Amino acid sequence: MPNRRCRADNSRGSSPEVRYVLYTGRVMSCLFCKIIDGSIPSTALFEDDICYAFADIHPQAPVHVLVVPREHIPSMADCNQDDTQLMGHLLWAATQIAQLRNLDGGYRVVVNTGEDGGQTVEHLHLHLLGGRLLTWPPG
Ligand code: AMP
Ligand code: ZN
Repeated sequence: MPNRRCRADNSRGSSPEVRYVLYTGRVMSCLFCKIIDGSIPSTALFEDDICYAFADIHPQAPVHVLVVPREHIPSMADCNQDDTQLMGHLLWAATQIAQLRNLDGGYRVVVNTGEDGGQTVEHLHLHLLGGRLLTWPPG
């Protein structure tokens, strides 16, 4: 796992939570970390050593999948140059899931980021949406 010491130290101070993220890459209070470790159930759709993908509990389209890195990164705004491979991998995973779900007519990948971006869960995730005609602009 890449060294997240600087990010964790910067974003979380020196709380017990920081010590946890330094050793495991997960945050005990994070919903998606709990989904990744299986303590909250989910419907797995794709996984490898870098990411985990599961069905969104409130689907906004016939196919609505969340792709999350196993490592706890709060949002896309917390990614840096060291994360370019990880970010590319998440996008690649989305293409694999789109193929598995037969989204031959197209699909949309969304990364809500921060408060203005509508992000509600502070663990980086891609939404893969498809299976219907998606309109633009989004709300
Ligand atoms: P965002 O608003 O971009 O942060 O996306 C968070 C997403 O997580 C929303 O689409 C929620 O429906 C979804 N979500 C919240 N809790 C769960 C859960 N337990 N299992 C699956 N998806 C969830
Ligand atoms: Zn997390």
